[in-house]
Amino acid sequence: MADSYRVIILGTGPAGLTAAIYAGRANLEPMVLDGNEPGGQLTLTTEVENFPGFPDAVQGPELMDQMRAQAKRFGATMQTGQVTAVDLSRRPFKVTVDDGSQTYLADSLIISTGASAKMLGVPGESEMIGHGISTCATCDGFFYRNKPIIAVGGGDSAMEEATFLTRFASQVTIVHRRKQLRASKVMQERARRNDKITWELDVTPTAIMHQDGQVVGLQIRENPTGNSRVIAAEGVFVAIGHQPNTQFLKEQLDMDELGYIRTAGVTSQTSVPGVFACGDVMDRRYRQAVTAAGSGCKAAMDCEKYLEAIE
Ligand code: NAP
Repeated sequence: MADSYRVIILGTGPAGLTAAIYAGRANLEPMVLDGNEPGGQLTLTTEVENFPGFPDAVQGPELMDQMRAQAKRFGATMQTGQVTAVDLSRRPFKVTVDDGSQTYLADSLIISTGASAKMLGVPGESEMIGHGISTCATCDGFFYRNKPIIAVGGGDSAMEEATFLTRFASQVTIVHRRKQLRASKVMQERARRNDKITWELDVTPTAIMHQDGQVVGLQIRENPTGNSRVIAAEGVFVAIGHQPNTQFLKEQLDMDELGYIRTAGVTSQTSVPGVFACGDVMDRRYRQAVTAAGSGCKAAMDCEKYLEAIE
């Protein structure tokens, strides 16, 4: 017999844990499922300086531990498991975890599985995440005051991140794998007009170079010649897109062309009554811890109203 809950929350980033705090305080006894990245993207950063209430900054993993403890205090229970399938065709909704060995039932679901930044997958990258490799200029740009850095990517994100990073860095090199940029004209032109930005086009990143725990550069291969060289930099910002974690929801919920869940108006209501979405899994625009937390609050409040109405 599968365990049954009034609400199951999928994901333990700021959105999921805030939803858990609010649902817990509403006596819904939420069950929260950790995925394969407990705590979400903030666990990949070091200092978080822009989360309100922490004037002296807080470590990303510590902030998530605190949110988790707060959710538990209000009666949320935590289970570990990667959601591999859900059945939203009837209530109670069915949630299948891992290899199918475990299933759960729920009257309502809050989906907060987040988005994962795409990574380059080159040697040196995974070891240096949070220590010279970042996927968020807004979060980490400040640490690179007067230092040379690299932004990888040719889309709007890379242009935006690179332009933002010139506020801090001594120089920003945009590294892109083709001659043509994918970014919109306006974003390209803004970056091109910026004196602090230099360009390395038609090159393929091949390795992150690091020494004594510090990033020292990016090794690239010039596509036309095949020659390799290293571009010196103390930080590498990877801005090659994000992937919402919605693969397990295919054909069950309305999503946009990139796989982000669509919600109705200012609410967290998805296309299936009783299923709510919050955080980066439905937000491709803001993607901040504080906006995710705010949307988690909304999802829990929407969910509470829904359960009240059906009960
Ligand atoms: P994107 O448009 O998909 O661009 C990703 C870039 O990364 C592309 O240039 C791509 O190269 C490159 N790339 C992908 N995989 C790579 C790999 N493994 N190695 C090296 N390079 C790789 O993603 P995005 O820039 O994050 O934008 C996503 C969406 O958000 C877009 O619709 C964008 O317009 C929007 N956005 C808008 C704004 C704004 O308007 N302010 C800001 C940010 C994002 P190729 O070009 O060769 O494929």
